[in-house]
Amino acid sequence: MAIADDSGAPFLEPRHDKLLARCRTMALKRLEPLNEAAEEDRDEASRKAVRILASEGLLKLLVPKAYGGASAAIDHRAMVAAREGIAYASAISHSAFAVQGLGAIPIAIAGSEEQKREWLPQASSGRMITAFALTEPEAGSDVGAIKTRATRTARGWTLSGSKMYISNAGIADIYTVFAKTKPDAGHRGISAFLVRAGKRGLKVEPQRMLANLPIGVLKFKDVKLREEDLLGKENEGFYTAMRTLDSLRPTVAAAACGVGRFVYVSSSGVYGETDPRVPISETHPLQLRTLYTMTKFASERLVAAEAARRGMVTAAARIAAPSRR
Ligand SMILES: Cc1cc2nc3c(=O)[nH]c(=O)nc-3n(C[C@H](O)[C@H](O)[C@H](O)COP(=O)(O)OP(=O)(O)OC[C@H]3O[C@@H](n4cnc5c(N)ncnc54)[C@H](O)[C@@H]3O)c2cc1C
Repeated sequence: MAIADDSGAPFLEPRHDKLLARCRTMALKRLEPLNEAAEEDRDEASRKAVRILASEGLLKLLVPKAYGGASAAIDHRAMVAAREGIAYASAISHSAFAVQGLGAIPIAIAGSEEQKREWLPQASSGRMITAFALTEPEAGSDVGAIKTRATRTARGWTLSGSKMYISNAGIADIYTVFAKTKPDAGHRGISAFLVRAGKRGLKVEPQRMLANLPIGVLKFKDVKLREEDLLGKENEGFYTAMRTLDSLRPTVAAAACGVGRFVYVSSSGVYGETDPRVPISETHPLQLRTLYTMTKFASERLVAAEAARRGMVTAAARIAAPSRR
């Protein structure tokens, strides 16, 4: 099986550095204006972010090549580099990038050949927006406690329950929803389903959070699903969810590096202006602080990159594996 980028090289390679620099420059120019636009209309700003990320080819990083992606297997270090660069300039955009991955990666991991062919090229080209619906009012870290229930019917499934804190709620075209199919089996009784937006019985309510992102509550009341809307094997949804989160986790650290670097670069300017007679380069405590901060950034980026590299040879190898169905 081809594993893109399995060179064994530690940390980021020059092409990842180049990608990071390209994303940072592009984000300052094209994505930074969306921060203000999000104050007016966060849904529209998010949709625009997806369009721009797609036009830059960045959503291809979230999908294997066979389904419209950039490399044979998902290159987690490229995801880390891209998210750090985007996060340098735009919160709504780095979130849009990651959530498109949260919705697409479960399909890449567990989808049937038909599901992959139908949805992944649309996700990687930005023609559709995805979402990942796991969290519930009584089930955050404790995923096994979810109560949303999918019950078998003669023709497929009926879905009832609710989700909260769902990114892209209201703007997604397709939701990967996790529900109990064997209620007494804890995390071993969870299955994943693909639920199209606009389904009868699905209600979306926006949530206000500190972060100005399109996040909301999903309410399912007897939503009818077909047999083929099941994503992966019955009762194996927990593993799909965990592998998806593992895949994207290093990019959360990368986003923090991007935001931190922006704050640092902006505030260095402020320090420099506090005493115009003393150039910043000659301010000894600041030199030390600069050195200390830059060292921290470098080490944090290396940790994120190394986590991505390790993820790449485990989770990503499976993401690229041909479907066994
Ligand atoms: C901006 C944002 C976007 C989000 N987007 C999505 C999304 O798209 N889809 C989705 O499904 N969810 C989403 N979430 C929800 C997120 O995944 C949950 O917030 C997360 O799973 C934690 O759940 P919780 O908030 O209920 O916290 P809790 O599970 O109540 O945890 C609270 C704290 O207690 C700690 N804790 C919990 N259990 C234990 C334990 N056994 N031992 C020790 N410590 C423990 C946790 O580490 C945490 O620090 C989003 C949240 C935010 C803030």
